[in-house]
Amino acid sequence: MDYPQVKGRLEKDYPLKKLCTWRIGGKADAVFWPESIQDLVQMVRWCKQNDLPVFFLGRGSNVLLPDAGLRGLVVVTTGLNKVTWQQQTVIVEAGYSLMLLARETAAKGLQGLEFACGIPGTVGAAVAINAGAYGATIGDLVRQLTVLTAEAEICTLKQGDFSFGYRTSSLQKVGFLVLDCTLQLSPLADANGLKETMTQYMAKRRKTQPLEYPNAGSVFRNPVGDSAGRLIELAGWKGRRLGDAQVSEKHANFIVNRGNATSEQVLRLIAEIQQDVHTKFGVRLEPEIKIIS
Ligand SMILES: Cc1cc2nc3c(=O)[nH]c(=O)nc-3n(C[C@H](O)[C@H](O)[C@H](O)COP(=O)(O)OP(=O)(O)OC[C@H]3O[C@@H](n4cnc5c(N)ncnc54)[C@H](O)[C@@H]3O)c2cc1C
Repeated sequence: MDYPQVKGRLEKDYPLKKLCTWRIGGKADAVFWPESIQDLVQMVRWCKQNDLPVFFLGRGSNVLLPDAGLRGLVVVTTGLNKVTWQQQTVIVEAGYSLMLLARETAAKGLQGLEFACGIPGTVGAAVAINAGAYGATIGDLVRQLTVLTAEAEICTLKQGDFSFGYRTSSLQKVGFLVLDCTLQLSPLADANGLKETMTQYMAKRRKTQPLEYPNAGSVFRNPVGDSAGRLIELAGWKGRRLGDAQVSEKHANFIVNRGNATSEQVLRLIAEIQQDVHTKFGVRLEPEIKIIS
């Protein structure tokens, strides 16, 4: 495939395991890292005209990528990282690191994003998924969005044009790609208090999450009024292993890669856990991670 000359980096036959935090996946036909929104849009429009499938990735911290690889073009947004501060508002491009943005907002004495200090994704995917922790979500802060529609048109969305739910948004349902977003933060008198809160959040994560092994965060969504990890642990899955895919001994809602885990092993673990939890507790666990096939 001869791709057009667009600014950015293009690599063919690229291992997907290098693009996700689980370190799992076969090869992509091609991967493109645009330098700007214009580069991304130009390439996506060319792919559409040529009927080439396009798949978008940020930091790959919420996806299970297939062992068989991906056909078409994978577009990685991490080069889209312009940020503009306007008093208590920040306009930030999709590929910006959410953790970095959380640290920077705290350093400016602005409140609202401290929950995100341990979420290793991009801002764009976080908005699409409505990432959250400790009772807060990024959706609460979003005031305006620039998106690329499924028809590859650029569109500005204002409040009322989008909505958020538990780890989901209206954007995902219609297949919009977030290009940039405007977040509204609040001023805080005590910036040190904010840093202290974030230090506590990080300490809690290190204590309760298996950050020492490749993983993709919580595998299952929490059922209403309960915790997926609690049910999986109660069903006896902690530490159980299929090849190099293991239900974490630290946190039962994490599956870790102990070396060369495959997508197939993770999928089998997921299916067996779902079935067992359903049999034992009558609860159907739904994946929180995006399973790409
Ligand atoms: C250790 C660990 C801890 C985590 N803790 C949390 C947590 O506390 N709370 C939480 O919510 N999540 C958590 N996660 C999951 C994950 O980090 C977040 O969901 C994050 O927002 C995903 O961002 P990403 O860039 O890695 O997305 P990716 O995994 O690259 O993509 C995820 C999905 O979003 C789509 N996508 C990518 N970019 C865009 C875009 N610009 N616009 C629209 N769609 C897009 C992709 O096509 C894919 O379907 C954790 C993950 C890990 C590994």
